[in-house]
Amino acid sequence: MVLEEARENAVKFVRLQFTDILGIVKNVAIPINQLEKAFEEGIWFDGSSIEGFVRIQESDMRLEPDPSTFAILPWRGTDDGFNNTARLICDVKTTDGEPFQGDPRQILKNVLGRAREMGFDFFAGPEPEFFIFDKKDGEATLNPHDSGGYFDQAPKDLASNLRRDIILTLEEIGFEIEASHHEVAEGQHEIDFKYEEGLTTADNIATFRSAVRAVAELNNLHATFMPKPISGINGSGMHIHLSLFKNGENAFHDPNDENNLSKTGYNFLAGVLEHAPAITAITNPIVNSYKRLVPGYEAPIYIAWSNLNRSALIRKPAARTPESTRIELRSPDPSCNPYLALAVILNAGLDGIEKELTPPKPVSENIYELTKNKRKEYGIETLPGNLNEAINALKQDKTILNTLGNEVAEKFIMAKKTEWDQYKGYVTQWEINRYLEKF
Ligand code: GLU
Ligand code: MG
Ligand code: MG
Repeated sequence: MVLEEARENAVKFVRLQFTDILGIVKNVAIPINQLEKAFEEGIWFDGSSIEGFVRIQESDMRLEPDPSTFAILPWRGTDDGFNNTARLICDVKTTDGEPFQGDPRQILKNVLGRAREMGFDFFAGPEPEFFIFDKKDGEATLNPHDSGGYFDQAPKDLASNLRRDIILTLEEIGFEIEASHHEVAEGQHEIDFKYEEGLTTADNIATFRSAVRAVAELNNLHATFMPKPISGINGSGMHIHLSLFKNGENAFHDPNDENNLSKTGYNFLAGVLEHAPAITAITNPIVNSYKRLVPGYEAPIYIAWSNLNRSALIRKPAARTPESTRIELRSPDPSCNPYLALAVILNAGLDGIEKELTPPKPVSENIYELTKNKRKEYGIETLPGNLNEAINALKQDKTILNTLGNEVAEKFIMAKKTEWDQYKGYVTQWEINRYLEKF
């Protein structure tokens, strides 16, 4: 099937893709005549060269392409239409042919398997935001490509042509785009694609980021998923809408509940709140992530949920149909590894279901404006304030550590500790501005 499709579409090269622990997409390109062999035997590669994979002495790993992920990359074709490039997302196997437990895609598969054993299919729909900046002399700048604002339209929204290009490209590779709009900040955009089963959504997020970057690049612009490129204005989040289905029906839906949320829905929500500090290390994995999680820019800081406002960590959006009943987690940012992020969020929710956890009452006030005493009265805790706090929270949460497995947990914590230590020792421009002449 895939071989035929590749031939029919004049595919010359196939990129075999996988994702490292830090969420960076890696790939090996093979000429089309190697594709059959790749399906039969897989493609061997040196796992020790991949961030967080294996030790030198056990470095041989095999990529096994997942045929359902075959897609032609529109931004890689030549104009004559004869030299197309396709991609296949791969699973990583060890020398013995076993799934490699350090492969983020496998970690998500493990948790999806657990959900299935409990009778659930997991669905997720992301809302990635990003900035588009001009380039100068080939380098990315911090100049926004346009001066539009929230939901602005052309002519002010210069970038709407670019957004259209991006969307057409995404549609070509099979995305179903639900909505797109200019975000609050200049040069900031959001493109929402249809919710899908968990693994497909994680694959889609990885593909989405590559596609957006590639189309921007073709226009001599730079797209960034860095969570907070400019201080003092909104950062980029990636809210994720979550639901579980059982026997084809939405297990989060209960028409008789005031929020239309079922017991399963409440338990799941409570599980995510319970593990929120440790989850943050994965959903907000870089030093810069915590510059976004500050008051006043529509990003969450407090561990609470709401059926109304957007200052809470979890929002229960109004649902028009039973199928669309869901909860929205607002902390993740688009720099995260989508496989690990969905794995830890889902496992936290399943833990809530298993332990029948109940969430506190929803908070209807603007949580940014609550006094410390009120927050104490409501029992509202805060999310980790920086990467170091998040890593420490992760280290203490057995459920989330177990979700990642020893291999990934250890490597992830080590990499993030190093990142934090480097940052901690760095003297920033803010300090120079503030102190150089004062002291
Ligand atoms: N950009 C905001 C964030 O950092 C979200 C804005 C919105 O509600 O879409 O999460
Ligand atoms: Mg948004
Ligand atoms: Mg949202």
